[in-house]
Amino acid sequence: MVPVTAPLEWEYAPSRESAAIVSLKPRYGLFIDGKFRAPLSKKYFPTINPATEEDLAEVGEAGAKDVDRAVSAARRAFVEDWSVLPGKERAKFLFRIARMVQERSRELAVLESMDGGKPIRESRDVDLPLVAAHFFYYAGWADKLEYAFPGMRPEPVGVAGQVIPWNFPLMMLAWKLAPALAAGNTVVLKPAETTPLSALHFAELAAEAGLPPGVINIITGAGATGSALVSHPDVDKVAFTGSTSVGKLIRNQLAGSGKRLTLELGGKAAHVIFEDAPIDQAIEGVINGIFFNQGHVCCAGSRLFVQESIHDRFVDKLKRRLSTLRVGDPLDKNTDVGAINSAEQLARITELVESGQEEGAEIYQPECVLPRNGFWFVPTLFTGVSQSHRIAQEEIFGPVLSIMSFRTPDEAVEKANNTPYGLSAGVWTQKGSRILWMADQLQAGVVWANTYNKFDPASPFGGYKESGFGREGGRHGLLPYLKGIGL
Ligand code: NDP
Repeated sequence: MVPVTAPLEWEYAPSRESAAIVSLKPRYGLFIDGKFRAPLSKKYFPTINPATEEDLAEVGEAGAKDVDRAVSAARRAFVEDWSVLPGKERAKFLFRIARMVQERSRELAVLESMDGGKPIRESRDVDLPLVAAHFFYYAGWADKLEYAFPGMRPEPVGVAGQVIPWNFPLMMLAWKLAPALAAGNTVVLKPAETTPLSALHFAELAAEAGLPPGVINIITGAGATGSALVSHPDVDKVAFTGSTSVGKLIRNQLAGSGKRLTLELGGKAAHVIFEDAPIDQAIEGVINGIFFNQGHVCCAGSRLFVQESIHDRFVDKLKRRLSTLRVGDPLDKNTDVGAINSAEQLARITELVESGQEEGAEIYQPECVLPRNGFWFVPTLFTGVSQSHRIAQEEIFGPVLSIMSFRTPDEAVEKANNTPYGLSAGVWTQKGSRILWMADQLQAGVVWANTYNKFDPASPFGGYKESGFGREGGRHGLLPYLKGIGL
């Protein structure tokens, strides 16, 4: 018999989503002109599950000739089919795709977690619903472009070359494809090397939806494939989401080419907590802000500024909350923090965390048993961080929070804006006038008030400074894909 005084020890029972819902092919070709085709390069590379390091499948590596083939298919489809199709007919395809995403959302969510390492709770409850929502939203615009830009004659730009990262593979695909297609453009899209599978399954779905061949082309490969795509002379518009360093390269590469360009790059968001904030809700907001998707989020609230009067209490509560986070199997529905996306990203996070310790910040990591295989990082806090530390300046893109303090609203603004980035920020206070003042002062494309990481297809998202330019989402998201509207 267990003595009544014994501490209560219990664990959640595993609640694993079955991977059987996904049927993986051993090998995937490139999706060009409505069909999967073997790469002309004859090369393939493996994509692995970062939680187990097991191979999931092989995917084709698109070389220059494959890129050329995909761009030609997109051009032909643009001229012959998509740009001449009435808006209301384009809308029907987008609505159909949105509904098919909903129908297959469980399969796609599992696949996303297997290939990328994110917890199934997030891919199921955040990524997939937002993917469908983006297609529904932009389907609604396809036949209303004249109303969106009254008195103008909006016309599609042509062939869009789109390069996306590994942190939200299917969501980034939706952010890129939906506005481009609604506006009448055709697309060649390159997913990231480590997370190509959901885009390839999406390609199957688009073919099943009866989309004319060539309207969407998905080519897989590494950075060289992305580079060949954005610099292809027959691409009219480039959209890139990824690191600031690659964004700069692309901007240099495209200078003088006349191509349109939008860049959604890195971030180092300030999350500002005033002493009158609802503390427990703010703790949840901070946790969501930095540990959502293992911190692999361009708008992650990675710099926390807490007003000095509540700093110690806040940090204590945060530490306690950190110790309740469950790190492990991404397919387990109880998991809060999944696997780091790749060995390279794990090495980058580790190096930056070591720099934080070397530069004198104080580290806190809760006790945590990590799985034996795969790539993992314990949720981490740093206190005693100064503005000049690398962990306060550089994008870590992992589950690591740098905490600093401030005394006055002016000081909070000055510190929050002390970054080369300007993508997002969060403010917690019960004072409405302070929220508006802060939103006005903070150099960030998005400012969340008393919440964090809220996304809606109707709301524009994008950066200032080294976080890039151009907006995705909302009516603004159509602008880069239209001409004849004064741009
Ligand atoms: P990259 O910027 O290298 O990757 C983003 C996409 O660009 C991928 O599809 C990548 O292909 C492709 N790419 C790489 N080089 C080129 C090129 N020269 N021309 C065209 N496309 C290219 O990000 P990483 O994956 O290397 O991540 C590095 C760091 O970038 C992270 O630690 C993080 O700090 C930041 N990052 C920020 C993101 C954001 O949303 N703000 C997203 C991803 C990363 P491939 O995958 O094959 O390399």
